[in-house]
Amino acid sequence: MATGKPPAGGAEKRNQEGKSGQEGKPTREKRGVPSGLWLRCGGCGATVFRKEVEQRLSTCPDCDFHMYLSAAGRIAAVLDDGTFEEWDGNLSPTDPLEFEDKKKYRERLIAEQKRTGLRDAVMSGSGMIRARRVAFGVTDSAFIMGSMGSVVGERLTRLVERATEQKLPLIIVSGSGGGARMHEGIFSLMQMAKVSAALARYSEAGGLFISVLTNPTMGGVAASFASLGNVIFAEPKALIGFAGPRTIKATIRIELPEGFQTSEFLLEHGYIDRIVRRAELKSEIARVIDYCGWS
Ligand SMILES: [Zn+2]
Repeated sequence: MATGKPPAGGAEKRNQEGKSGQEGKPTREKRGVPSGLWLRCGGCGATVFRKEVEQRLSTCPDCDFHMYLSAAGRIAAVLDDGTFEEWDGNLSPTDPLEFEDKKKYRERLIAEQKRTGLRDAVMSGSGMIRARRVAFGVTDSAFIMGSMGSVVGERLTRLVERATEQKLPLIIVSGSGGGARMHEGIFSLMQMAKVSAALARYSEAGGLFISVLTNPTMGGVAASFASLGNVIFAEPKALIGFAGPRTIKATIRIELPEGFQTSEFLLEHGYIDRIVRRAELKSEIARVIDYCGWS
């Protein structure tokens, strides 16, 4: 469940140590250096040149740590230039429960839309991957933690349904730390069943669904569409799981194995099929599409 807390990013939250969760965020200003020129890597703590990080699809030039990449950045990294055609971009979230925590949900939505340039935490449409046409969706953890409300669920469901009708391979890149969006209550929770049912129909029609898990993929997103791929890829060192480690420990009172919610652990235990570096993702997806006889 989303806690309703926007992702860390406020100036007061930045620290000098580059603790996890701070990756990709500008470091404090250095004397004589324009702000935003440097980033602190959340993996190795090194101060790295922003431009170099951007040229490497938001990965660290020193340790290859995979930092946050926006939905638009994902589209640019995976799809052929200029081939993305957005579907259902007119869908906007509403506030059916008139929900309010620290802030009114309605006001939070407007603030998040302004900050991220997105209408909600998802982008979906069609595009080409090395000249193979695909249906493509991506969730963005910057928008209320990438949580799944009715717009995310509806756009993904329509994406799957169009992929079924048009017989397209389906790619969904998940970056959702929030799971179901509590601000929309049951309207959020039912999206898990809705998207999963559409995926079952897609599968019955012989579809090929490649699910790509990125840091973080948690909660109701991990518990529904993200885990339903015919092939499941994950980026290196991504946090993937359902509840957070502290919640699990407090519930079952058992010491959990080190790093049990990382891509590497999950690969070893058969939950994912392959760890794919961001730079190789496009080629790997194209390879699977060919291998499965879809091109
Ligand atoms: Zn690094």
